[in-house]
Amino acid sequence: MAEKLMKFSEAVKRFDPVIGLETHVELCTNTKLFCPAHIEFGGEPNTQLTPVSLGLPGSLPVINETAVDFAIKLGLALHCEIAEWSQFARKNYFYPDMPRDYQISQYDKPTNGNGYLDVELDDGSIFRVPIERAHIEDDAGKNTHVGGADGRIEGADHSLVDYNRAGVPLIEIVTKPIEGAGERAAEIAGAYMRTLRDIVRALGISHARMEQGNMRADVNVSLRNKPTDPLGTRSETKNVNSFRGIEKTIVYEIRRQAALLSDGGEVLQETRHWDEASQTTAGGRLKTDADDYRYFPDPDLVMLHITKEHIERIAKDMPEMPRERRNRLQGEWKFSDLEMRDVINADALDLIEDTVKAGATASGAKKWWLGELSREANAKGVSLEELPITPADVAEVEKLIASGKLNDKLAKKTVSGVLAGEGTPDEVVKKHGYEVVQDTGALEAAVDKALADNPDIVEKLKSGNMKPMGAIIGAVMRATKGQADAKAVSGLVMKKLH
Ligand code: ADP
Ligand code: MG
Repeated sequence: MAEKLMKFSEAVKRFDPVIGLETHVELCTNTKLFCPAHIEFGGEPNTQLTPVSLGLPGSLPVINETAVDFAIKLGLALHCEIAEWSQFARKNYFYPDMPRDYQISQYDKPTNGNGYLDVELDDGSIFRVPIERAHIEDDAGKNTHVGGADGRIEGADHSLVDYNRAGVPLIEIVTKPIEGAGERAAEIAGAYMRTLRDIVRALGISHARMEQGNMRADVNVSLRNKPTDPLGTRSETKNVNSFRGIEKTIVYEIRRQAALLSDGGEVLQETRHWDEASQTTAGGRLKTDADDYRYFPDPDLVMLHITKEHIERIAKDMPEMPRERRNRLQGEWKFSDLEMRDVINADALDLIEDTVKAGATASGAKKWWLGELSREANAKGVSLEELPITPADVAEVEKLIASGKLNDKLAKKTVSGVLAGEGTPDEVVKKHGYEVVQDTGALEAAVDKALADNPDIVEKLKSGNMKPMGAIIGAVMRATKGQADAKAVSGLVMKKLH
């Protein structure tokens, strides 16, 4: 049943939205958080295991030092207080993807607390997002429900469990309630998530690919009548795994809760999930703040001691942060502020950088990613990164253009071929014979014919009126199925007339 929604503009006029984001980032360590099981995305199910990741009796966890260093790096980047002593706790619950029946997380003594992240909004202004904590925990395995509709457990006839992910290190970054966002709540959440993604990538601590589940967020939304009121009851939409999904969840929840509240209804504190197909959130389980996980310090692990000296050592080789990097690249690429803003908004900075590294010019790379490829991504409703074309492919197309082998039109066809899965640009060109006619004999023949067919144009060109040159080029293009180089054609025409 469709839920009642209030118009967004009206909802944010009548209510003050407050949001909170809990973001899980999967760390890219070689091994798991508490055991030396190797981690590899997409491996055969249940091949990346040790007794610890299966929770077998008698197995004991040993903390992965690299994961702790990654957490410290993130703490520094988020301006957190890094605790000298932090502690792992058992969060107890039963679920088949978690063989120990408890998750090892941090509770009242997290490694990172009290930080903030400044995010840049579309208009260039900065919004400061307050961070409550960024704690270390391990991931669960993965259930696959077979036989039901779209992978849901309802109606499935059996379920499979893959424990490869069980024990992979995560950092959960929890914001404080984000107040003062108003109608820009969704924009701020999107900018926050993208900035966080850029930071963890710059730190080299996670691949942060949302579509692979390396990064996912729980989205909390509540409304209140006015900013001075106490916080309203929140809904919590779990595991949203795309930036657009997060933004849309917030808009949807604001509209849904506004309609509910203005009808005298009550917002339930519940978990919900975002459904991409229907573009709505649906209710899940009711939840109270006192959800009883019976947290207690994990007796198998000693407290984590992080010295000032250790933090200082890590602070010394912190990499360039996204904002600095952006400024440096803008200088190198000679883009205007506006151009750079477009690049950022299109989420194309990494892609353009990789394309330039693969040999393209900055302007050439930008032309593709912000033009043709952005249109394609929009039409398909996917991010640029998800398009089946790589920066190396784009650079290759640019090289083919620079060497005169492709003209603009053929280059576009080549890119379409790559997007259609026909192979690399070289392969697509070969397959369809897209190359510009290099054979001057064939080109000359086509030019001769075009001139012979158009004596009136020839007269005009001879008298110095160059306007009809386009018609000759057009005729040659038609004769060569678009595979002539326009410049070469006009050069040949001039040579023949004089
Ligand atoms: P839980 O694990 O129960 O979801 P957490 O404290 O880990 O609780 O996370 C709750 C998230 O929701 C935090 O980001 C917090 O800032 C945010 N939050 C808490 N209360 C509200 C509220 N009334 N409205 C919106 N966000 C809230
Ligand atoms: Mg939560």
